[in-house]
Amino acid sequence: MARQRRLTGEGFRTPRATYIPRMAKRAADLLTITPEGLYCPAGDFHVDPTRPVARALITHGHSDHARAGHGRVMATAETLGIMSVRYGADFAGATQVAELGEVVRVGDVAVTFVPAGHVLGSAQIAIEQGRCRLVVSGDYKRARDPTCRPFEPIRCDVFITEATFGLPVFRHPDTRAETDKLIASASLFPERAHIVGAYALGKAQRVMALLREAGYDRPIYLHGATERLTEFYKAQGVPLGETPRVVAAERSKLAGAIVICPPSAIQDLWARKFPDPVTAFASGWMRVRARARQKGVELPLVISDHCDWDDLCRSVVETGAEEVWVTHGQEDALVHWCLSRGIRAKPLHMLGYGDEEGDGRMDEAPAEAAAA
Ligand SMILES: [Zn+2]
Ligand SMILES: [Zn+2]
Repeated sequence: MARQRRLTGEGFRTPRATYIPRMAKRAADLLTITPEGLYCPAGDFHVDPTRPVARALITHGHSDHARAGHGRVMATAETLGIMSVRYGADFAGATQVAELGEVVRVGDVAVTFVPAGHVLGSAQIAIEQGRCRLVVSGDYKRARDPTCRPFEPIRCDVFITEATFGLPVFRHPDTRAETDKLIASASLFPERAHIVGAYALGKAQRVMALLREAGYDRPIYLHGATERLTEFYKAQGVPLGETPRVVAAERSKLAGAIVICPPSAIQDLWARKFPDPVTAFASGWMRVRARARQKGVELPLVISDHCDWDDLCRSVVETGAEEVWVTHGQEDALVHWCLSRGIRAKPLHMLGYGDEEGDGRMDEAPAEAAAA
């Protein structure tokens, strides 16, 4: 796998004139579906495999995409770092850093990692052979996130997308309004602690960064399960301010504080030891009131690390793809939308990808969930 050439900006885009009619068949040969997940025979690698494989290219560190036990792993330096934090330094037989925007030959294909805007280190993976380019987007979003690089649309023949929030009812609000709600509640109820459920990788750090942007300068307290990845973000240069770990014996003294914990902890006995806790949850699913009620969430914060409906559709258009494959989520609505626009589309019904904004079972690494 030697370095080839570095492409930047416009240089990476292919004019649509290069499209060839047999593209659909070529694309289906270039990337197939196996029990382990998406597989590229010409490059002999899987993308985000859900079971151990010989060679894996990994889009980002969420545990449904980045698993331990592969022979070789290629990912961005941040994603490799996150995997190391989660699984230990020996999470794979060998690792290779993918530099963003750099074209690398893997077997008989050219591969490029391009920012996805989802969490720190997240990348889309472009796979190209001849004149056929596929892009596996992994998870991605278009909303601004101070903790990671923004999504860059890539011109391609086939765009492979998730559809976690792929229904027209999902429109994520401006994050500033959500953060302001939390800060306002904390100042309105200084005698109560605010316990904010947020996934340990990405969402927790984004909420902290958004609070800092909104001018909140008090310490933000962390549940133990959120601490290591937060330290990793800080070490990568993401400023998050003062973030002490909650000392169990001192929970009763944290009136007025904002505390970040894994979603599973907001209903735990752990959370009840704080003074009259206000339970909050930062997730795109908080748009659904019934879901918030069912989880006993008093202060729902609609903050998502996935695209809403408009951004999914916009992204499909911006890639210029002739064909769209939808991996998981609300596949049917997006497939239908593509077909209505004259874009070929199909659902892949891929198993093993949880939505990390769902109920937390997929995205919380067991070791972290257990550590408190
Ligand atoms: Zn993810
Ligand atoms: Zn995912």
